[in-house]
Amino acid sequence: MRLVIIGGGILGTAHALAAIERGHEVVQLEREVEARGATVRNFGLVWVSGRSASELAISLRSRQLWEEIGGRVAGVGFRPAGSITLVRTEAELAVAEAAAAGSRAAERGFELLDPDHVRALNPALRGKFLAGLHCSTDAAVESRQAMPALRGHMQASGRYGFHAGTEARAIIGNTVIDDHGRRHEADLVLVCPGAAHSGLTRELVGDIPVRRVRLQMMQTAPLDEPLTTAIADGDSFRYYPGFAGPELDTLNAEQSQAFTAAQHRMQLLCVQRLHGGLTIGDTHEYDEPFAFDVDEAPYEHLTAVAEELLGRRLPQIVRRWAGVYSQSVDPDAIVTRAQAADNVWVITGPGGRGMTLGPALGEETADLLNL
Ligand SMILES: Cc1cc2nc3c(=O)[nH]c(=O)nc-3n(C[C@H](O)[C@H](O)[C@H](O)COP(=O)(O)OP(=O)(O)OC[C@H]3O[C@@H](n4cnc5c(N)ncnc54)[C@H](O)[C@@H]3O)c2cc1C
Repeated sequence: MRLVIIGGGILGTAHALAAIERGHEVVQLEREVEARGATVRNFGLVWVSGRSASELAISLRSRQLWEEIGGRVAGVGFRPAGSITLVRTEAELAVAEAAAAGSRAAERGFELLDPDHVRALNPALRGKFLAGLHCSTDAAVESRQAMPALRGHMQASGRYGFHAGTEARAIIGNTVIDDHGRRHEADLVLVCPGAAHSGLTRELVGDIPVRRVRLQMMQTAPLDEPLTTAIADGDSFRYYPGFAGPELDTLNAEQSQAFTAAQHRMQLLCVQRLHGGLTIGDTHEYDEPFAFDVDEAPYEHLTAVAEELLGRRLPQIVRRWAGVYSQSVDPDAIVTRAQAADNVWVITGPGGRGMTLGPALGEETADLLNL
């Protein structure tokens, strides 16, 4: 079959990869010169730890696929570094203890560590914390270099083409028409537009059950030592359904709404890039219109928390940015697959787990459509 895939982020690219691996031909269109959506703005975390029980199997499958892809395509930068969620209060500790004692803790690779064991695993963590919830299944990739690397890998098949700076404007029958006036014939069209819910997406499928969420992020200059695992703070428990339970209810009840972390719906996540810098975030903004500028207060909070956990000053902040992802509002849907015509599907809405789940979602779609 010949597929046209619209969107150059992880969902478009993972779907392209799944189709190429099954012997099909793929043409992928990206309206920007290089992907510029959520995929290049994210942490690159393959985050298994807090996924709900119903999402755990697909998360572990996707992590396995990332590992396999990383083995074949070095530019993906896959590393099975794991993560440690550092807890600083008794209420956070209770959530971590419940998670480590949970029925599926072994599958997630959870282990609760005291501060000495945390430091044995990640010697850069010389700051103040009560304990750390280690998750050995978490991993990381280098999102910004992974998309071009995956495209290079697919090009070697001889069955893949990529058109940068090419916006898909209409789909008529089996033909995708782009903004250069070119026509791309397809047996199957997969539209992976990310948070572009208007324009072509709305024309094809109307208003689908997704919302947009905006996050603020930053990156430091290289740290002069390895951060051997990704790290998170106890606020992160609030944003992952796998930690739901009475302990989390108590933690949530304790959070003062006057606190910057509550106002900006924040968690600390921090991962070291291959170049040594730390990618640190994030906030969650749900109400549109979103701010067009970045707010300083969350950065001060993230800096303070990161410095408390590391027990040292952060390197200079060299980049600040915001990103928007598309999130399905159906709690039972990991992603929204909306059919526009017999041979046209719009696929978006993986929320804050799109980088984690991309490869498995590509595989799942390929199975669903008998590719
Ligand atoms: C700040 C931030 C941090 C995150 N951290 C993580 C993380 O660590 N781990 C994780 O699992 N998830 C994370 N996420 C979520 C994850 O990044 C997203 O779920 C995922 O990248 C979505 O991929 P996508 O391909 O659907 O969308 P995008 O990456 O937004 O890609 C969509 C692409 O489609 C293009 N496009 C749209 N319309 C057209 C058209 N008509 N024609 C041609 N091209 C078009 C756009 O230009 C864009 O490049 C994070 C998200 C953000 C914003």
